Amino acid sequence: MVKTFYGLPEKVIFCKKCVISNQRPSSSVEFKHLKKEKKSTIEFDEEGICSACRYSEIKNKLIDWDKRERDLLSLLDQHRGKNGGYDVIVPSSGGKDSSFTAHILKYKYGMNPLTITWAPHLYTDVGRKNIESLAHEGGIDNILFTPNGKLHRYLTSQAFKNLLHPFQPFIIGQKIIGPLMALKFDIPLVMYGEHQAEYGNILSETNSPTMDEKFFSEKDPYSLSLGGKNVSDILKETNFSIKDLTPYIPPTSRKLKERNINVFHLGYYLKWDPQECYYYSQENTGFKANSERTEGTYSKYASIDDKIDNFHYYTTLIKFGIGRATYDAAQEIRNGKISREEGVALVKKFDQEFPKKYFNTFLEYIDINENQFFNIVDSYRSPHLWDKKNDSWQLLHEVSNL
Ligand SMILES: [Zn+2]
Repeated sequence: MVKTFYGLPEKVIFCKKCVISNQRPSSSVEFKHLKKEKKSTIEFDEEGICSACRYSEIKNKLIDWDKRERDLLSLLDQHRGKNGGYDVIVPSSGGKDSSFTAHILKYKYGMNPLTITWAPHLYTDVGRKNIESLAHEGGIDNILFTPNGKLHRYLTSQAFKNLLHPFQPFIIGQKIIGPLMALKFDIPLVMYGEHQAEYGNILSETNSPTMDEKFFSEKDPYSLSLGGKNVSDILKETNFSIKDLTPYIPPTSRKLKERNINVFHLGYYLKWDPQECYYYSQENTGFKANSERTEGTYSKYASIDDKIDNFHYYTTLIKFGIGRATYDAAQEIRNGKISREEGVALVKKFDQEFPKKYFNTFLEYIDINENQFFNIVDSYRSPHLWDKKNDSWQLLHEVSNL
């Protein structure tokens, strides 16, 4: 019997419309992510179509986007100019989607957004320029929040070792920073960009304009898990205090309710197209794509602000057999930019490329050597996905043309 890690489905199926497989987890923001833990994965229907492709059909045919825009206007009307100051918080990495969100809210819908950036682990040059241009060229106010680097490095390193998910602390921080700043500045409206349903989270969640409530459920902060470790253990084993962990502890839904803070996705109200966001932000906020393609994929404009970002996608390749080209191609197929055949070819060409450009930088950042890196990585390869032949690892199931 083949053993599967993370409770992944034993039989690997690829979507007939895009290139994603049924191994894709349905959320990237999980506090626990352990090998033995059952993960929920993207839904496939009886015709072999994934929920992200189904959502894109709904998006193209069934949703009344004019009505959704009217709903957006009435939501914005309730908040616009309320305190004479800022009336919406937009968490922004300086990337194309959040730049689009902030800019269109300000210049088309007359809001006064305050963008908040959770700093990358290690900026790329183009990432640093893009976050500056949002303010300088896009005309949007921005606060850059940089978490305690010692703690963030520690958590990232733990997350790599314990979960093979080095981006987990960053994703958690980025998700929390919006509501946290909303509380701080008393700005009850928080607007994130694209809806997670675009990428295959639970289909029923597409009916909701607000963020997954579970994330803000009432939890004792000491029992939270960060980087695969309980907060109480982190406090025992290190010199960090519970105060140091403030930016990683989600405000409770009770607190958000008391202050009437609501977290929305603009992608619920406006028909989202990542490539159009790229063109829009290039035109309006001075956003620039990379001069070279990103390792592990063929694109130049998505998630380019962090030097260690490539290792996020490398670890998804190891754990789920899904690399960065698969994510990019699946999204572009759904949005009608490329055909499935083109997508398959791109996945075959780029998905398994090792991100060598910042490899040493990453090793230094999480404080391990090359041997340790590969030992850890290999321990996370599920036997139903990987086989070692002649000393090299091979994926047992790859996407192919129908
Ligand atoms: Zn699909």
